[in-house]
Amino acid sequence: MKIYLFGILNCDLNLVQVGDWNSLWRLKLPPKIHYFIWRLQWRCLPLRGQLMEKGMYIQNICSCCNRATETRSHLFLHCPFVASFWSHMNIDVVGVEENKFNDWFVDVLKKYPDNVTSQACLLLWSVWKFRNTNVWNKYQLLLVSVFQHGLKFLMSWREAQVKVVTHSNATATHLRQSHKWVPSSDGWLKCNLDGALFAQQVKYGMRVVLRYHVGHFIAGFSVAFNGHYSSTEVEAIALKEVLS
Ligand SMILES: [Zn+2]
Repeated sequence: MKIYLFGILNCDLNLVQVGDWNSLWRLKLPPKIHYFIWRLQWRCLPLRGQLMEKGMYIQNICSCCNRATETRSHLFLHCPFVASFWSHMNIDVVGVEENKFNDWFVDVLKKYPDNVTSQACLLLWSVWKFRNTNVWNKYQLLLVSVFQHGLKFLMSWREAQVKVVTHSNATATHLRQSHKWVPSSDGWLKCNLDGALFAQQVKYGMRVVLRYHVGHFIAGFSVAFNGHYSSTEVEAIALKEVLS
């Protein structure tokens, strides 16, 4: 809650949003990326140039290239670490200045299909992560790695959404059917397992329960590891753990 309030209090609430912002909310993106874009548009991010404007006595130079004032237009569009990504995505950023940043973004939402605008949002989010790693961890990742990691995260998130919808539909279809645990055939052991993804922490977890055919508990465990996998891969790893 404190962080949220800090974010709100540091926003430039004098800005007037124009254009079709519904296109942004319609994009299939994780809530944290939507929220990040919202903060970016309202100048809520603690960019050095903005902090200096608000009266903080700090260096306002870009945290990534040390060549220009760290504003939204520089860091997210023109910084040498970033510019080639926009060119690769065929999105024109030439001449976009700080006071035209929101107009540029609305234009991108209007001109390009959802898959391109989703990638544009993901790139903006990746640049912010890349910049923060430079500032706080004092080492430099490759932006391309951060972006690729973001793409994997986005795919996993979308996959999980489909799974939830499919599961909801299945639940509705079989509403009258029992969901009680069903024992295995005589002499067989039964193993139930489930995987969980924690994309933000780059972790995954699994829970496993092994029972006799009559239902008696034999063993079980719940564990988390570092790594980034799809839900199917996590379930396969859980199965391997059971068999090893
Ligand atoms: Zn820069």
